[in-house]
Amino acid sequence: MEITLAILGGDPVRTRRWPAWPQSTPDTLALLEQVVESGRWAISAPYNGVRSFERQFSDAFAHFHQSGYCIPTASGTASLMVALEACGVGAGDEVVIPGVTWVANASAVAAINARPVLADIDPQTMCMDPHSAATCIGPRTKAIVVVHLYSAVADLDALAALTERHGITLIEDCAQAHGARYRGRPVGTVGALGTFSMQATKVLTCGEGGAVITDDAVLARRVEHLRADGRTYAGQDPPIGALELVETAEIMGHNLCLSEFQAAVLVAQLPLLDKQNETRARNAAALDNLLTGLGLTPQTTSPETTGRTYYHYAVQLPQDFAAEVDLDAVATALSAELGLAVSRPYCPLNANRLYRPASRRRFAGLEGAAAGLTAVAPNELPVSDLVTARTLTFHHAALLGNEGDMADIATAFAKVLENRSALRKAG
Ligand SMILES: *Cc1c(COP(=O)(O)O)cnc(C)c1O
Repeated sequence: MEITLAILGGDPVRTRRWPAWPQSTPDTLALLEQVVESGRWAISAPYNGVRSFERQFSDAFAHFHQSGYCIPTASGTASLMVALEACGVGAGDEVVIPGVTWVANASAVAAINARPVLADIDPQTMCMDPHSAATCIGPRTKAIVVVHLYSAVADLDALAALTERHGITLIEDCAQAHGARYRGRPVGTVGALGTFSMQATKVLTCGEGGAVITDDAVLARRVEHLRADGRTYAGQDPPIGALELVETAEIMGHNLCLSEFQAAVLVAQLPLLDKQNETRARNAAALDNLLTGLGLTPQTTSPETTGRTYYHYAVQLPQDFAAEVDLDAVATALSAELGLAVSRPYCPLNANRLYRPASRRRFAGLEGAAAGLTAVAPNELPVSDLVTARTLTFHHAALLGNEGDMADIATAFAKVLENRSALRKAG
């Protein structure tokens, strides 16, 4: 018996609410109140005799990663820009990035007047395929930015070997993987630098924010200058009422600093991360089993992953089903069954409407001799196209509940699989 889909007027599988994200806690409120009353709302404000929340978070996040240095930034985008520039990447250089990721990976490269070159992805992990990355490296390539996408850690062994062989820099974008581990090491510590976003949807968040981690003192100092208008910490406490940041002017920067409000929220939220990651991983493993039983193929991670985290849960529909149905219609149908936003994955960057450097006058001077400098290389991404045409994803908040919630998700997938005739492609 076919049961009517919710989009066609049938009863939805579920009407109960999903766990909320982000999550307020008493500590978060208490620390925010401390900031309001302290009078010090930013690191570029007079020192009040107390260690800033920005420094407290920097210490805690560096310690969490057993990393030498952590430099908080205003956003994940800012962290990518300053990490790239700290390595000396700039005008006319090429940076290899994965073909499937958030647009910021491409726009941050363009923002420093370099050119993103797109590598194809691995069909199982959806992360950068090291073989494809190897074919993207040319005389202008200065760095590879790998992204640990959705719930996967990329093949860091192969990418580290590749960058070493070519004498270029490996940067890990961990905006979707706070707390994931590879060979027992936190992600972000395998590359020369690790970058993070703490934007509202991410697994560690303060609304908007970011950070860069590194073990290299020289890179850390450059990142500090780049994100604070060419200023850095003096290394000792200033007199009360003076500024902590000193104007060394070693490099010109921009103001890409995290405010004290944001830093305080991160100080309160970081201690919750491991437990939340554990809950998500436990529920996702249960869901993997249920969906595999229905003939679906959940995203996997690279074999040396020792701690898996979930920003989005991603799963591939059976090939024959995906060939017949309209993916947007399936996403809409699942969303209606569950009261949860089920979405298509990122559009591959060679066709992504958000990547449009030509829409900005600041890039006009780069045309001509270096024609198409900020344009993505016009290479094809067959695996990216194939995988994104049959994958659906949903946000990690849905994994913060229990096994009953996972059963609801599986029930909705089963219902939609049985109703393929209602979801056929037009024409
Ligand atoms: C979110 C995200 C970014 C950008 O971070 P913002 O804080 O939004 O600037 C960059 N890379 C990836 C992979 C992301 O998911």
